[in-house]
Amino acid sequence: MSPLELQTRNIGWYKVYPHGVEVEPGIAKLTTYASKKATDMGAIYVNKEGHRIVDESDVYAKLRNAVLEQTDKMAFLLMDQRTWQEFYYLLTLHDFTEEEIQQYFANDGQKSPIFVHGSLKDVAQKAGIDAEQLQETLNNYESYTVQGKDEDFGRDPQFLHSYEGNEFYVVEQRDRFATTLGGFVTEADLKLRTKDGKEISNIWGAGEVIGGANGHDSMPSMMNTWSISSGYVAANNALLQLK
Ligand SMILES: Cc1cc2nc3c(=O)[nH]c(=O)nc-3n(C[C@H](O)[C@H](O)[C@H](O)COP(=O)(O)OP(=O)(O)OC[C@H]3O[C@@H](n4cnc5c(N)ncnc54)[C@H](O)[C@@H]3O)c2cc1C
Repeated sequence: MSPLELQTRNIGWYKVYPHGVEVEPGIAKLTTYASKKATDMGAIYVNKEGHRIVDESDVYAKLRNAVLEQTDKMAFLLMDQRTWQEFYYLLTLHDFTEEEIQQYFANDGQKSPIFVHGSLKDVAQKAGIDAEQLQETLNNYESYTVQGKDEDFGRDPQFLHSYEGNEFYVVEQRDRFATTLGGFVTEADLKLRTKDGKEISNIWGAGEVIGGANGHDSMPSMMNTWSISSGYVAANNALLQLK
C-alpha cells in the first residue's frame, strides 16, 4: 500500500491492557481468561504493600489504570486451591504449557513471572508482599464476603466468595502492550485518502486498518462488530459504484 501514500491518523497510539505475566524481559503473555475466572470465583488483586487495589470485578480498564499506580507497576492475584485449579486449567487451555508453569514455580518468586504457592505467609514472602498487611487485607475481605458487602471497593456481592483452606497461590499481574490503535483515514464512505487529502476512487477500508474508530483506548468488545459492520458498508459502497 505504501506507493499510494495513504493518509493515516493516530498511528503512534497503542493500547495497554492488564493480565500480563512477564515471561521474558519486556515480553508478556496474557492470562485474561484465567484471571477473569479467578476473580469471578472471588479472588482479589493486591499490591506489594498487601492492600487490595481495585474492584476486581469491574471493567478491565479500571484494573489496567490501577496497576500502573502500584509499586513496580505490579499487582498480584491471590487464589486458594479451588480457584487455582480453574486458573491453571484455563492457562493450559490458552497458550501456557504445564512445563513452563512448573518452571515458573521452580523460580520460587526470585524472578518474573512470579508464580508461588504455600501458606499465606509463604506466598507473601516469596512474592515480596507485606505479609502482615496481606493477612489483614484477607481478614477484612473475608468479613465482606460474610456480610455480602465490600466496604473497600463496593464489589458486586455475587463475586464475594470466601477463600477456602490454608493453601494459597499468587501470580503476578502486570500491564502489557495489547495492540496499535491508529490506521488509515476515511470518511463515512470508507474510501481511503491520500496524504494530500484526495479520495481514492476504488479502494475502501474496513475494520482494524481504519484509524479513528478507536480513541486512546479500543472500543471494548466492539472491535469485531466494527470490523463486520464496516466491512459490510465498504463492500456495499463498492457494489453501488460498480452498478
Ligand atoms: C487477543 C485479542 C483479543 C481480542 N478480543 C476481542 C474481543 O473480545 N471482542 C472484540 O470485539 N474484539 C476483540 N479483539 C479485536 C478483534 O479481534 C479485531 O479488531 C478484529 O478481528 C479485526 O478484524 P479485521 O478483519 O479488521 O482484521 P484481521 O482479523 O486482522 O484480518 C486481516 C486479514 O488480512 C490478512 N492480510 C494481512 N495482510 C495481507 C496482505 N498483504 N494480503 C492479503 N491478506 C492480508 C491477514 O492475514 C488477516 O486474515 C481482540 C484481538 C486480539 C488480538
